[in-house]
Amino acid sequence: AARAAQTFRPGLEQIAAYRAGKPAPVGPDGRSIKLSSNENPYPPLPAVERRLAEILPAAIARYPSIAAPEVTAVLAARFGVSPENLVLGAGSVEVAAQLIHALTAPGDEVLYAWRSFEAYPILTRVAGAVPVEVPLDAAARHDLPAMAAAITERTRLVFVCNPNNPTGTVVTAAELEAFLAEVPQHVLVVIDEAYVHFDRDPDSPSGIEAFRRHSNVAVLHTFSKAYGLAGLRIGYAIASREVAEALRKAAIPFAVSRLAQEAALASLEAEAELQLRIDEMTRERQRVCEALAAAGLGFAPSQANFVWMTAGAESARIAAAFEARGISVRCFAGEGVRVSIGTPEENDAVLDVIAGLA
Ligand code: PMP
Repeated sequence: AARAAQTFRPGLEQIAAYRAGKPAPVGPDGRSIKLSSNENPYPPLPAVERRLAEILPAAIARYPSIAAPEVTAVLAARFGVSPENLVLGAGSVEVAAQLIHALTAPGDEVLYAWRSFEAYPILTRVAGAVPVEVPLDAAARHDLPAMAAAITERTRLVFVCNPNNPTGTVVTAAELEAFLAEVPQHVLVVIDEAYVHFDRDPDSPSGIEAFRRHSNVAVLHTFSKAYGLAGLRIGYAIASREVAEALRKAAIPFAVSRLAQEAALASLEAEAELQLRIDEMTRERQRVCEALAAAGLGFAPSQANFVWMTAGAESARIAAAFEARGISVRCFAGEGVRVSIGTPEENDAVLDVIAGLA
């Protein structure tokens, strides 16, 4: 084949494309269990399926509303903010891209903890900005004092992923407040709360409360995790009017489909039903953690719908043991293994593997 004659933007060769969680292999019992992407293991709520069936023909041939006024109004009312404070995207990852594109010029810095969500370095580099990664502390938690110390004149954005992916750890409200008190006003602090619905720690901060108190705070939420709409792609930011206006300029036109908007609306109306599933997932998380403790395996305390096994050099071996059972997990070689929480039956299979590792 002919070699491409195009040139690509400088630095692109250093970027590895986003690596999604692997599909599950087939286990000895013929089952495949995908626990590699922190998805919701349940089928869509009946109300969501009904709503999608109702709108299906019209929603396909026509462009969606860019303003998405209904879902925006419901979310604004729920959080007690103005619709002007809300910006939707095709998943919160698109909103994260909007933030980076709207706030950084080439050479500006984007700061976040590492390890954290793998899209942060990719989106940062693609935008021509410079990633600054501050290691998590020994307990796999954000080291907020070190992050505050790493802020420079070039820092435009700080992502605080809370609970953190892939470790499931959280910062406390007091730690976050102390951090925000130190962050200069020119820096926007983005609290990525993709997993906030699973957080049961009474000391955890509320991103929305932080947004109310600090004009340089924005919050990212998603319908992909607790709401189970990962395949439909819808997430949003709550930010100051000025930041929100800038994000709308950086958005991809029509990225959020009408199907996604309507499914989000139906989910927001079915909160009680969703809450039962979320409660079950947090109970199941507890069960997996107890099994890990009983087996003497290291893990970080999790407030998300996944658990981080601090397996270090054993990570590849442990991931292979899961895969041999038809369970896909996320392996960070030499560091750890992230196992998403599935249905009780799926977690039973996880417990079997854990027992075998003891
Ligand atoms: N933030 C974090 C911390 C995540 O883990 C993810 C999904 N892996 C996202 C944002 C993006 O999710 P989505 O684009 O589906 O909203």
